[in-house]
Amino acid sequence: MRPADYLPPFDPRDHIGAPTDPEDERIEVGVLIVGAGPAGLACAIRLGQLLEGAPEVRERLGEVPVAVLEKGKQPGSHLLSGAVVNPRALRRLFKGRKRIDELPFYGPVEHESVYFLTPRRALRIPTPPTMKNEGNVVASLSQLGRWLAEQAEESGAMILPETAAVKLLAADGRVRGVRTGDKGRGREGQELGNFEPGADLVARVTVLAEGTQGHLTGVALNRFGLAGENPQVWALGVKEVWKVARPLNRVIHTMGWPLRAAAKYREFGGSFIYPMGEDMVTLGMVVGLDYRDVELSVHDLLQELKTHPLVRRLLEGGERIAWGAKTIPEGGFLSLPKRLHAPGLLICGDGAGLVNVPALKGIHYAIESGSLAAEAAFAALQRGQTPSTPGALAVYDDALRQSFVWKDLQEVRNMRQAFGRGFWLGGALAGAMTATKGHFPPGNTRTERDVDQELIRTDRAQSYPAPDGTLTFDRLSSVFASGNKTRDDQPNHIVIRRDVPPELARMWERMCPAQVYEAGGDGVAVTPSNCVQCGAITAKGGRLTPPEGGSGPEYTLT
Ligand SMILES: Cc1cc2nc3c(=O)[nH]c(=O)nc-3n(C[C@H](O)[C@H](O)[C@H](O)COP(=O)(O)OP(=O)(O)OC[C@H]3O[C@@H](n4cnc5c(N)ncnc54)[C@H](O)[C@@H]3O)c2cc1C
Ligand code: SF4
Repeated sequence: MRPADYLPPFDPRDHIGAPTDPEDERIEVGVLIVGAGPAGLACAIRLGQLLEGAPEVRERLGEVPVAVLEKGKQPGSHLLSGAVVNPRALRRLFKGRKRIDELPFYGPVEHESVYFLTPRRALRIPTPPTMKNEGNVVASLSQLGRWLAEQAEESGAMILPETAAVKLLAADGRVRGVRTGDKGRGREGQELGNFEPGADLVARVTVLAEGTQGHLTGVALNRFGLAGENPQVWALGVKEVWKVARPLNRVIHTMGWPLRAAAKYREFGGSFIYPMGEDMVTLGMVVGLDYRDVELSVHDLLQELKTHPLVRRLLEGGERIAWGAKTIPEGGFLSLPKRLHAPGLLICGDGAGLVNVPALKGIHYAIESGSLAAEAAFAALQRGQTPSTPGALAVYDDALRQSFVWKDLQEVRNMRQAFGRGFWLGGALAGAMTATKGHFPPGNTRTERDVDQELIRTDRAQSYPAPDGTLTFDRLSSVFASGNKTRDDQPNHIVIRRDVPPELARMWERMCPAQVYEAGGDGVAVTPSNCVQCGAITAKGGRLTPPEGGSGPEYTLT
């Protein structure tokens, strides 16, 4: 049985349409950016810089030349990453304006170790070239996002938090903007006392920077025929931040246990453990969502990882202070859309799938693509240009193909797909790919959708440690640590079929790090208010749609 056999009815066409508000009630902005992540904020900052030198263009864009919509309570609330950041794209963005040491980083990576774990032992192995972090810096993406949002506002952008874009506005073959979601509806969709309807926001250029599992990005790829040959695949990352008794002086990555190496399980991933200054450490597990075992739970694998002597020692005497989860697009170069523009539309960051999986890096690609999107939008806004004519924004694709983003992703293009063949064979192929900069093996490997993997069942869950509330935790206390504030009586934003076989219900129950699903006698019960919007359900047979703006986690340190 495959999750693909039980996909819920979901028609992207229901999420795209012409503006419906009367023309004089539509909110007009110059460039509309959806998502205040590194991609969207870099785009806003770069536009601000370009408009600074072009007052006549700024003037023509009206009262709000640049607006950024963010569904989280504030910028950063929904940002979660490792994060070791390659500062290359930030250096270009802030050239002549800010030095890297003025940004909110925890410092450079000074030492690093990679281990292969068995249940009791840790074998240090040489750092694979793709995982080297010399010159990189450690950050909390949530904190970096808040800082970038301040810079964007200073450069003239208007940021609208607590605002979800729920519908792509398109008419006459071009994108016109987005419609924002209603607020104040009850569980059955009825209007409550504080009801506020959504609004049509129209713009000359719309930039989708929604990150992983972008709702409108998927709709746009479908509507404008942009999807590439290979489907996208995802991994789920679950992480914690700890206050620790002793500082950690290096960046650590592990592979091997608690994942199983045999090809039949398709368990690809590993852990990261990064220092955050003298008194904090962040650690997380990232696992490909092409896994097959219905009992696999990334939340519980992270709990298990902490019981390893290597990790337990680092956390001894410490306290967990934050938790969160998010998916990562892992298809890489082979899963990129054919094009990243359509009339009036640009797509950047994780929404486009710009992630280097072996390096676990996407932030600098998000920033670079956001900056390039700004430059393309700016060029198309010059007098005599029309961004909504076909091909007017094609310079964005050209610039991205010329950039380091493209070259980096091309070199590691088959790497993720190789690990579908199991850890050892995948590892050997990955080594060959690295040594030859992607020339061997030649050609491209096909990607299989996560939903197409046949499910199997083992007794994997038996070995997950019982939560002790000190080192190991249950999911509800994890959701609490995410600061989740979703209203209980909000309409359900998770689209799934309820009449699914027990195996699939059980798989969702284990998969969801936030305890949203409960397998029952004849299907699955859902508690949507627990959802931290990680996106895993979209990879595994359902669909996460944006809930009411302002709901979801309130990350501050992730
Ligand atoms: C566990 C984990 C570890 C990682 N480690 C690293 C690392 O160490 N180094 C590294 O470089 N990269 C790392 N990455 C990848 C990196 O975090 C991403 O590549 C990067 O965050 C992508 O940036 P983005 O702006 O495209 O998307 P995001 O960071 O996801 O930001 C998108 C924003 O858009 C908002 N949004 C989405 N849809 C809507 C909508 N419809 N309406 C309104 N707002 C919306 C979201 O709330 C969010 O704030 C990691 C990722 C994970 C999950
Ligand atoms: S319901 Fe889906 S999107 Fe929400 S936390 Fe669970 S798996 Fe993630």
